Amino acid sequence: MLILGIESSCDETGVALVRAEAGAAPPRLLAQALHSQVQMHESYGGVVPELASRDHIRRVLPLTHSVLRQADCTLQQIDCLAFTRGPGLAGALLVGAGVACGMAAALGKPTLGVHHLEGHLLSPFLSADAPEFPFVALLVSGGHTQLMRVDGVGRYHLLGETIDDAAGEAFDKSAKLLGLGYPGGPALARLAEHGRADAFKLPRPLLHSGDLDFSFAGLKTAVLTQVRKLGAEIDARRADLAAATEAAIVEVLLKKSLAALQQTGLRRLVVAGGVGANQRLRQQLDAAAQRLGLRVHYPELHLCTDNGAMIALAAAMRWQAGLMPADARGEGYSFAVRPRWPLAQSASA
Ligand code: ATP
Ligand code: MG
Ligand code: FE
Repeated sequence: MLILGIESSCDETGVALVRAEAGAAPPRLLAQALHSQVQMHESYGGVVPELASRDHIRRVLPLTHSVLRQADCTLQQIDCLAFTRGPGLAGALLVGAGVACGMAAALGKPTLGVHHLEGHLLSPFLSADAPEFPFVALLVSGGHTQLMRVDGVGRYHLLGETIDDAAGEAFDKSAKLLGLGYPGGPALARLAEHGRADAFKLPRPLLHSGDLDFSFAGLKTAVLTQVRKLGAEIDARRADLAAATEAAIVEVLLKKSLAALQQTGLRRLVVAGGVGANQRLRQQLDAAAQRLGLRVHYPELHLCTDNGAMIALAAAMRWQAGLMPADARGEGYSFAVRPRWPLAQSASA
């Protein structure tokens, strides 16, 4: 089964080719291509939806040709066209969905609309050291922060989630307050390497709430308060404040992940989403895992943020699990998108 995956939910256009065999062997990534719009949106301090849609239109076909060339494949060899159905920006999603369905109709092949978070969640299966079900998943991206019990493909049980900002949003908003541009998560992490995390006392919201929910909005306010207090002194203290912010976010993610493992009795954690690239988070999770005899799996660094590979992979794993609709063409190549779409509702979609 050769699957082409297209991701266009936000500000990255990603296309990839994945091959899967029937059975349980993890699918193989044959080729992938990515274009990030970060530079285009930077001067606006955030993603401009209309510009995002237009840029996806410009990029998606050249990226598709590049992927086919890399893998030495023809369009006719593709067995299924997968695209991100949601959640995300409606106009941006429609580009990937329209192109995938248009190609599928021309080729007479089936399509599969994939849930973006399922893509993130399954992305560690493209690592050399692929996880096994069941596991607890810590999904930490720009728009979501969730802990899930994952029993198999399509079997996702939400354990807890953020009640306000996502972890990636906390990184980005704090970075903005520190004058680090957009999206500031990676920049904040780089600056934090040169700072002392204990130089500022920042809150760890909901750390002792007893449940598995998160809250990061208060942290952003605390960072703002510190920035205001520092005034002109900020230049000398920026690295310390970055380190303290990163430490606060990471500590909450670490403690809640360990609590989720304890609560479920599982010993395997899978981390996914952009914040999964954070080195402090990885170091602290690895240290705790070693201490407690747990296993932690991550996506490869370049697959933490949005990409086409995770969309092709999720479609491939759905096919292997027997979850591909018997007649994917029966939808009449409907490229309806779901800008809002809880993951639990996608299980049997
Ligand atoms: P969602 O998947 O929820 O729709 P998204 O697709 O925008 O949101 P991702 O692409 O998974 O999110 O991740 C982007 C986020 O990851 C951004 O908030 C970014 O700042 C953050 N991020 C990326 N690298 C790092 C890092 N090294 N440290 C901290 N945060 C990071
Ligand atoms: Mg992005
Ligand atoms: Fe994402």
